[in-house]
Amino acid sequence: MMPKKIAFGKNAAKEFEYPKKSLIITTTTPDIYNKWIDYMGITDYELYDKASPDPAIETVEQIKKEYEGRQISSYIGLGGGSSMDLCKYLSKLTGIPKILIPTTFGTGAEMTTYAVISFEHKKKLLQDEAFLADAAIVDPYFLPGTPFNIMRNSACDAAAQASEGYDSKLSNPFTKLFCKEAFEILEDAIINDKPHLLPYGAMLSGIGFGNSSTTLGHALSYVFSNEGVPHGYSLSSCTTVAHKFNESIFYERFKKICQKLKFEPLKLKQPLEEAAEVIMPDRGHLDNNPREVTRADIIKCLDEIVNSNPLA
Ligand SMILES: [Zn+2]
Repeated sequence: MMPKKIAFGKNAAKEFEYPKKSLIITTTTPDIYNKWIDYMGITDYELYDKASPDPAIETVEQIKKEYEGRQISSYIGLGGGSSMDLCKYLSKLTGIPKILIPTTFGTGAEMTTYAVISFEHKKKLLQDEAFLADAAIVDPYFLPGTPFNIMRNSACDAAAQASEGYDSKLSNPFTKLFCKEAFEILEDAIINDKPHLLPYGAMLSGIGFGNSSTTLGHALSYVFSNEGVPHGYSLSSCTTVAHKFNESIFYERFKKICQKLKFEPLKLKQPLEEAAEVIMPDRGHLDNNPREVTRADIIKCLDEIVNSNPLA
């Protein structure tokens, strides 16, 4: 599955013909989004800019109510994952189509059937065919200005998703095609300092892993995320160690990417045995791992992550 329409490359967001009476949903501030909207050349629109990161179901309900009966023709999610997730869930409730325009690149969320929404202050990863974009626009115009730290975390996430997705038990020749191409573009972008290639690489990664799944690297990473480590950063060591465990063809190349991005080793406050208890029930990731993973394997991987430097 992938969006009905995909527009990508330089000027993609500028040349796109936006439907009249669209509702733009963004999480950024007017000084930033006014520039974006100017660039897009969109004129007949409404704007919702009160969305905050990690959107809750209450925000979805509130936007739905606020714009009911105002003949909104489509939602435009403009910004990071949160803006897009809001549009995905709204569109599922109302049936109004959605156009997704990422401005921070890495998750490939504009390509996938996944959305993260909080219910009672708990983030929940949801999957639904209704979350798929009617159109996705991937334009490197939005890249400059992204702080280095956010960019390197996103780049690492995209490379981890592409390579884990390639190895996943759910992969097939078609998804592998996207994952492999994504990894090669991302590797070129990172190793040879061509950041303008990151958005396209992340987009292909989204199509590839979105139709297969991520695996052990992602499963290991969540205990670090729970202690506040950014997602992409936690994947630097976790996916490297997972690739080694799986004897992945991407092990050395992924490690080189992390070295180039200068990621520091990870620490874990929680004892390794306790962390393993959190990881083991994550069947969604572990069952799709190319090699069977036992509790002892998880502890061994965690030990390697925190007690030796897997990126050295
Ligand atoms: Zn990820």
